[in-house]
Amino acid sequence: MPYTAPLKDMLFVMNELANLAAVSALPGCEDATPETVEAVLEENAKFVSGVIAPLNHAGDKEPSFWHDGQVTTSKGFKEAFRQFADAGWQGLQHPQDFGGQGLPKLVGTPCVEMLQGANMSYGLVALLSDGAIEALLTAGSDEQKATYLEPLVTGKWTGTMNLTEPQAGSDLAAVRTRAVPQGDGTYKIFGTKIFITWGEHDMTENIVHLVLARTPDAPAGVKGISLFIVPKFMVNADGSLGARNDAHCVSIEHKLGIKASPTAVLQFGDNGGAIGTLVGEENRGLEYMFIMMNAARFGVGIQGIGLAENAYQQAVAFAKDRVQSRDLAGSSGSVSIIHHPDVRRMLMSMRAQTEAARALAYVGAGLSDIAHYHPDADERAANMVIYEYLVPIIKGWSTEMSESVTRDGVQVHGGMGFIEETGAAQHYRDAKILPIYEGTTAIQANDLVGRKTVRDGGKVAQHLIAQVRATATQLGELDGAEFASIRKSLEQGAADLEAVVAFVLANVKSDVKAVFAGSVLYLKLAGIVLGGWQMGRAAVVAQKKLADGAADASFYQAKIVTARFFADHFLTQSTGLKNAIVDGHAGVLGLTEDQF
Ligand SMILES: Cc1cc2nc3c(=O)[nH]c(=O)nc-3n(C[C@H](O)[C@H](O)[C@H](O)COP(=O)(O)OP(=O)(O)OC[C@H]3O[C@@H](n4cnc5c(N)ncnc54)[C@H](O)[C@@H]3O)c2cc1C
Repeated sequence: MPYTAPLKDMLFVMNELANLAAVSALPGCEDATPETVEAVLEENAKFVSGVIAPLNHAGDKEPSFWHDGQVTTSKGFKEAFRQFADAGWQGLQHPQDFGGQGLPKLVGTPCVEMLQGANMSYGLVALLSDGAIEALLTAGSDEQKATYLEPLVTGKWTGTMNLTEPQAGSDLAAVRTRAVPQGDGTYKIFGTKIFITWGEHDMTENIVHLVLARTPDAPAGVKGISLFIVPKFMVNADGSLGARNDAHCVSIEHKLGIKASPTAVLQFGDNGGAIGTLVGEENRGLEYMFIMMNAARFGVGIQGIGLAENAYQQAVAFAKDRVQSRDLAGSSGSVSIIHHPDVRRMLMSMRAQTEAARALAYVGAGLSDIAHYHPDADERAANMVIYEYLVPIIKGWSTEMSESVTRDGVQVHGGMGFIEETGAAQHYRDAKILPIYEGTTAIQANDLVGRKTVRDGGKVAQHLIAQVRATATQLGELDGAEFASIRKSLEQGAADLEAVVAFVLANVKSDVKAVFAGSVLYLKLAGIVLGGWQMGRAAVVAQKKLADGAADASFYQAKIVTARFFADHFLTQSTGLKNAIVDGHAGVLGLTEDQF
């Protein structure tokens, strides 16, 4: 079943919910006219469906493989990457000064969704390069920018992110890789990094590794980590490639999913030391890496949405085709399974969650653009804190969502879902990595509680809750049971989220474990309420379009039905989640270690 980009829904969300018009009016974003945006999305959809999607299942069956320090990527990937780079897709969101197209994040995000939805293994190489580019733009020296940015932005080279070590996963304070200054401005890097996505491959002539390491006198913990550029091949002053650096891929992992994406063990410095240059200042590496991680975390959330969309499309096609059992209310004969209410429930659940997560993420992208391009510093700061509050939710909630959507995708297929040929099983397997890498859901939830809620005394959370209530009020002014139902659930959701924020603030000092016992549930609750808020906003817009006699009535009616489904089936979970957070910590923490 081929992947079809959901362009109509993407454009609806961009225009009606994420305020593309306001983003396009920002200085630096003028190129994002409605005509250009539509043309870019259509062109991207064509490329992704025609070139990238067909490699997805084949890459799963014939993964990239390691031989003698080299990685041969799955068939067709190298040629597809050349086409991707030559067409300028890697540089879509990056500055024109370095060979990019300088389009806003709100326009880049649907393109990322299409790429990731069509083929996550492939999409990862572009995602990691995006992160490396962001980090260098923010913290790189002029010389580093001049050397590395254009090749990365144009897809001549790719980038990687080297944080994880055998003893340092979620806890980066445990990083041990060493960086020894050589007195000439360079450092020699020694250590082992594991799980490095696209850490070695044959698609480009060079790979730019961004590596976390410690200098000799660095303080312990996260305050003593620095960031280094360690290229696979050294780069000469004229940009040509020099000697092979002492950074080698000693193996790649055999994995549950994303099999075409090589996950490398990289050994730095076994033959005298890998040469690296410091990015920014010593001991500020984690701070810079967070820039990269925030971009990557947002991107991983988008991967979840793209994958969920693909799984949904496939499940719908199967449900319309597979004939089994009689219609409950029909007279005779078997029908396609889409006639059975429970299959409908699963399809609606897949659809509604995907749409809600997409809307929330695209709204986040629009906020990020305002935070970067708005001429007024206060506006930039105000939008940045909201965007930053949303990042762990977009990452954590959208990826947990994709796991549940792809699981339903298998279930809709029945036994055929368990058989690899349909591709439904691959989506489910691929989805499992999403709530793990770039910080597990628990790590996102820790961020949501600590940095994003406690640090500002719940200010941003309250601001968003007030906006949820304003949408509920708008819904209350519309006639119809569907709007009343969404309003009621949204109001309850806002009240539950408010109660949880109050609980977090009141208890974080006196009973920190009780608060963190419910941190992932808080993230889930925030996702449901804020996603439900976007669905409520979509319903308000759709109702107006219908009242104005919009041409595509079916699309807008479906929006309202889907928003109601989300409210009835997901927003209604808010009180249960709140109770589990506020009252449930005793059960979480009640057993002694010996009792497990
Ligand atoms: C396919 C793949 C690709 C990857 N790509 C990269 C990459 O490109 N670059 C890179 O640097 N790394 C990469 N990683 C590593 C990935 O980011 C880590 O696996 C992830 O951060 C989790 O670390 P860990 O595996 O050590 O698990 P652990 O940290 O050991 O976690 C185990 C469990 O404990 C929980 N836990 C740990 N600490 C806490 C805490 N403080 N609070 C609550 N719960 C906690 C976790 O949520 C998890 O459930 C990749 C991993 C995989 C599998």
